[in-house]
Amino acid sequence: MTILVTGGAGYIGSHTCIELVEAGYDIVVADNFVNSCMEAVHRTRKLCGVDFPFEQIDLTDYEATDRLFDKYKIDAVIHFAGLKAVGESVKIPVTYYRNNLDSALSVLEAMKKHEVKSFIFSSSATVYGPEAPVPYNEATPVSRSTASPYGNTKLMIEYILKDTVKAIPGFNAVLLRYFNPVGAHASGEIGENPTGIPNNLMPYVAQVAVGKLDMIHIFGNDYDTPDGTCQRDYIHVVDLAKGHVAALKKVKENCGLFVCNLGTGKGTSVLEMVKAFSRSCGKELPYEFAPRREGDLPAFWADPAFAKEQLGWVAEKGIQEMCDDVWRWQSKNPDGFPQD
Ligand code: NAD
Ligand code: UDP
Repeated sequence: MTILVTGGAGYIGSHTCIELVEAGYDIVVADNFVNSCMEAVHRTRKLCGVDFPFEQIDLTDYEATDRLFDKYKIDAVIHFAGLKAVGESVKIPVTYYRNNLDSALSVLEAMKKHEVKSFIFSSSATVYGPEAPVPYNEATPVSRSTASPYGNTKLMIEYILKDTVKAIPGFNAVLLRYFNPVGAHASGEIGENPTGIPNNLMPYVAQVAVGKLDMIHIFGNDYDTPDGTCQRDYIHVVDLAKGHVAALKKVKENCGLFVCNLGTGKGTSVLEMVKAFSRSCGKELPYEFAPRREGDLPAFWADPAFAKEQLGWVAEKGIQEMCDDVWRWQSKNPDGFPQD
């Protein structure tokens, strides 16, 4: 069975490629490197032990996407490709809507033409919206609108997939709602590689640890949480990658529309994360409290019961392992992947 991994040069995609090959799937990777590079593909091939095919294409280009489906006999698609920076999406919403919607639409159109009927989508916990009770459960209706244009693209693609499942007999769509992916491959060869100053907590902390940034700013210490800082459900990227392998089994059962959280079910505070990372890198990391960041929710995490029941999937790696693996990646590659 051959899986097209769109955005497979990126952070979650590259880790998923390894798990897919390990599980016995053939893969084809497509990416335009808008937020990744060829070195990630080289390293992923090495870790897989397979020289899988790679195509550098922009998936918003329907003709190029169609040619990809002509060239390879694809059985299922895992669609990671998309722009993902929440703050940036507020500044350039049209770019986000254009890229994320058009790439999903051209893949779906090519799938229809080539009669490929299995699609796994990288959605996000953000679709639950600020009013959803914690822990987030799949039975909770999605919000009418999320906190950002980025989140809205996820919501819109979820709707597109629901309609597609209704319209095309035998079409299966798995919507995986990720919580906060962190961590890196245990080899330290691949990991998250943000451009510029990171917006997310884990890469920011890692860059302080390696000396590229001076100080961690903890956004808010007056939340109604045990230590006053926000809590999130951090999930190791390798566990997340394995969730996609489990989702492929669901697709084979002809699941139609299947919505599932991928999270651990545990909340970790910003302070707890900073402390855990300090243990990983063997030094106390400097931090200061700063004002709350606009739009942040105090605390949320997944109800992971449905994933366990339906996919037989449970996240296994804890916070310390997440930090240890990020530290290995960051200290081996302080500047991320070398430029091609
Ligand atoms: P990433 O940026 O590392 O990977 C996305 C990849 O898609 C990149 O390699 C990029 O070059 C590629 N891409 C973007 N637009 C493309 C296009 N038009 N044509 C071809 N390739 C294109 O991001 P990631 O963290 O690996 O996230 C993967 C997916 O998971 C994204 O859809 C993201 O929105 C979603 N997601 C991520 C998180 C997270 O915190 N990392 C959380 C929830 C959901
Ligand atoms: N955070 C922080 N300092 C930073 C980056 C993030 O205190 O430099 C906090 C942020 O306010 C949130 C948590 O860390 O409470 C997780 O933020 P991130 O951006 O990683 O994830 P998201 O907001 O998408 O859940």
